[in-house]
Amino acid sequence: MLLKGRLLTDPTRAPRPGWLRIEGGRIVELGEGEPPGRARADLGGADRIICPGFIDAHLHIPQFDSVGLDGMELLEWLHKVIYPAERWFGAGAARGGTRLALRRMVTQGTLGFAGYLSSHGEASREAISVLEQVGVRCVVGRVAMDREAPEDLTSEDRTRAKMSPRPSPLAAPARGGRVEISANPRFAVACSEELLAEIGWLRKERPELIIQTHLAESKGECEKVAALFPAAKHYTDVYDRAGLLGPRTILAHCCHLTDEEWRLIAERGCVVAHCPTANLFLRSGVFDLSAAERHGVRVALGSDVAAGPDVAMPRVARAMIETAKWRSIAHGGATGVRVPAPAEVWSIITVGNAEALGWNDGGRLVVGAPADLLVLRVPETWMDEHLIGRLLHHWSAALIEARVIGGVALDPTTI
Ligand SMILES: [Zn+2]
Repeated sequence: MLLKGRLLTDPTRAPRPGWLRIEGGRIVELGEGEPPGRARADLGGADRIICPGFIDAHLHIPQFDSVGLDGMELLEWLHKVIYPAERWFGAGAARGGTRLALRRMVTQGTLGFAGYLSSHGEASREAISVLEQVGVRCVVGRVAMDREAPEDLTSEDRTRAKMSPRPSPLAAPARGGRVEISANPRFAVACSEELLAEIGWLRKERPELIIQTHLAESKGECEKVAALFPAAKHYTDVYDRAGLLGPRTILAHCCHLTDEEWRLIAERGCVVAHCPTANLFLRSGVFDLSAAERHGVRVALGSDVAAGPDVAMPRVARAMIETAKWRSIAHGGATGVRVPAPAEVWSIITVGNAEALGWNDGGRLVVGAPADLLVLRVPETWMDEHLIGRLLHHWSAALIEARVIGGVALDPTTI
């Protein structure tokens, strides 16, 4: 397949006309100017933009139909909105729910993600088979949880704990395709010390295993964790004692951390998934980007649907800028509060998130990269050094003319 257009290889520069050729699901050739022999392009055109698809570092597949139920804080919202939705997912809605989530993601240009399924083994396996069928690159795991939630969400892990030999808390073994299976302890409130320790042992046996969990999202959650784990030094220590922290651990939110916790996260090399739209929707907290940077912690970006109401990653990236601007205003314009530039947040939702998930070949336009690409159609007058700022602030799925997943053009309405 041959694509022609302005190649967005570096978001700090206006994209230059070029072309790229895809074979076997990867970019095999790429160049500036006209393709060799002036070959006819299958997709794109002289005035189109070719860019890597977006990658979302944190979302929940069963929650796509639960967006916008406002007026609650995190713990109340989990009990009233999310746990019933996940119960529904486990009771026969997994295939349909996964298709709906994928349709919405791909429509908005998200062609890779890290996410959570539900706590049901069978429903998780069904969801994984849909993901494999569509061919989207992702890291997903069945949610592990054994307390502080309704019986039908916690019973699988509690029953499993009584079995001997105990089956794995993972939904399905890794198969080496485009779907990678992670371990997803929901958060410390919903996981007993024993369950966290079990996943910690699993990580010890398989250091390549990605761990996804939530950390210090809301104040109420932090208080609850302090009460449930009186022996822990702080919230981050709960996960560290269980052996859950390492370079392949993705910690979502991290709004309420002490310097000591930031230092520990930096020392373990974890990734923090900043979810600005979700933090605002549930009024959970204001992420401190400057603290993460001061401690040298890697920051990824997540939509966190359904706490985050927007699946479109350019709008999540824009919210990252806005969060930093609010912090800067609240601190009287203090120089210690850095506001990231549009090109920087664009890099996070492409190559940055790819690297955060361990996909060192993804999120970029280079030979050898997987062909997960977008063809954008934007007004000619946008093609200057402000292109990325314009894209972030004008974002709409209508700007996408075509989506290529693993080298194949995909129309999201067919998912
Ligand atoms: Zn989440």
